[in-house]
Amino acid sequence: DRVVIAVDGTSGSGKSSTCRAVATRLGLRYLDTGAMFRAVTWWLLRQGVDVHDADAVAARCDEPVLVSGTDPAAPTITVDGEDVAVAIRTDEVNRAVSPVSAVPQVRARLLAEQRAVIAGDGGRGEPVGGIVVEGRDIGSVVWPQAELKVYLTADPAARAARRAAEEGGSDVGATEAVLRERDRIDSGRATAPLTMADGAVHLDTTDHTLDEVVDVLVGLVHE
Ligand code: C5P
Repeated sequence: DRVVIAVDGTSGSGKSSTCRAVATRLGLRYLDTGAMFRAVTWWLLRQGVDVHDADAVAARCDEPVLVSGTDPAAPTITVDGEDVAVAIRTDEVNRAVSPVSAVPQVRARLLAEQRAVIAGDGGRGEPVGGIVVEGRDIGSVVWPQAELKVYLTADPAARAARRAAEEGGSDVGATEAVLRERDRIDSGRATAPLTMADGAVHLDTTDHTLDEVVDVLVGLVHE
């Protein structure tokens, strides 16, 4: 089964948990494209590149080698062979990732790699099969021909409360401010802005549990 499910939406709307659960239920692969943008951002920060200097970002963004594992039970990401799954979730990366992701050269590079993983011809022995892909521009740019496109949103306050709880009681107000700032940059950029793709199903998860949202998506696939 080569079904592709494209899940886009705002930061902290529950995309990752939802997509992993849907992929597990349906026996599909899973790709977190946000992790790829975070990995490039992490590498640039470590190199001392000014992430607000688009020319500097463009000049260096092709250098790190990324490998994304697509098992929904244990998604992995490495940069030059180094496991960065934890390192890409820091506050520093949260604040730097949207400016980096707005640089066209970054998007062009990752677009090609994302399409290769989805098609299963990445040359890394990837199993070929269907996949759940999460991001901001999957249904609009990366894979507009997806069999199912979903646009997930939630109230900013609800998103911040969930995220702060995940992060072990960090400040909800500060978390909400960072989420809103990322949404503002991601929605306003010139290349592949966050937007609801043609034909996407919009789900607002504010008043729904993870299990409820997963059930809705699985039901949509079976329609
Ligand atoms: O999904 P996540 O919150 O980890 O994404 C981190 C950032 O990566 C987003 O805020 C956005 O700037 C960028 N991103 C993107 N396009 C995607 C996925 C993520 O621009 N398809």
